[in-house]
Amino acid sequence: MKISVSLLSTYLYCSRKLFLQKVLMLEEPPKESLVLGTIRHETYDNINKREENIVSSVTKKFSFGELRDLYRREYLKILRKSIANNKERLKDTSLNMLDAYRQSFPFIMEESQARAGNIFSFIEKHGVYGEELWHRLTPKILSELRVESDELRLKGIIDQVHVYEDGYVPFELKTGKMPQDGVWPSHRIQIAAYSLLLQEKFNKPVKNGFVCYLDTKVKRQIVINPFMKEEIKQIVDEVIALLEDKKLPDFCNNENKCRKCGLKQACYNEDEVNNLLKVKISS
Ligand code: SF4
Repeated sequence: MKISVSLLSTYLYCSRKLFLQKVLMLEEPPKESLVLGTIRHETYDNINKREENIVSSVTKKFSFGELRDLYRREYLKILRKSIANNKERLKDTSLNMLDAYRQSFPFIMEESQARAGNIFSFIEKHGVYGEELWHRLTPKILSELRVESDELRLKGIIDQVHVYEDGYVPFELKTGKMPQDGVWPSHRIQIAAYSLLLQEKFNKPVKNGFVCYLDTKVKRQIVINPFMKEEIKQIVDEVIALLEDKKLPDFCNNENKCRKCGLKQACYNEDEVNNLLKVKISS
């Protein structure tokens, strides 16, 4: 049995929530932040897929402003398409398509500025254009990279991987609040798990990874250490036991988590939960 890395995060957030979702098959109603998060993920994914074409199209010297405008035009097209793809999901929230566009616009501006700056500096330094520029450019960014391991009993899709000549760096893109320092424990475990999976896939050490908190535009580093493998294996064992045992975990006793949880109503409805549990146990 291989489980998804995202289950480790949910387990660390609240084991009861994982049980409600994966054993009792309860679904969270779509929240505005979740739909906006999906739009951003989809936009980033398509931005990365377009990157080779954009970079290769730079066949002569551009000013920084021209490069930034080139990126902006391409990225805004991609954003509009992602919003249109999520039109139906937006209907279940209080946001319309224009709201989604307005709220996503600032990150497109930031991203265009950053990528144009990166290309501009690379050209200034190396004086190369077009396809040669693309081939020599580092880091290259892979998005939505699938990874899995029989040994770790894990599988997943990494948001972004930056590929350098001497190694790989995983990135997770997160919407929502970030902690005052460092990253949330569930994000740390996700990056650790992805680092191990990347190491196995490419047979190269992964020394660190990053969580990008998109709302605040802050990037936080996680240094990978040799003890993380045992830690991940231990959590995988616990998650598999939880999924197989059919024993409902207790409440997490954390008001903040419960307040933000999309399953709160169902979770506190003991009759509904017990009925679902009886059906599961007898099946
Ligand atoms: S409401 Fe609280 S205890 Fe229930 S699943 Fe959500 S976070 Fe866990």
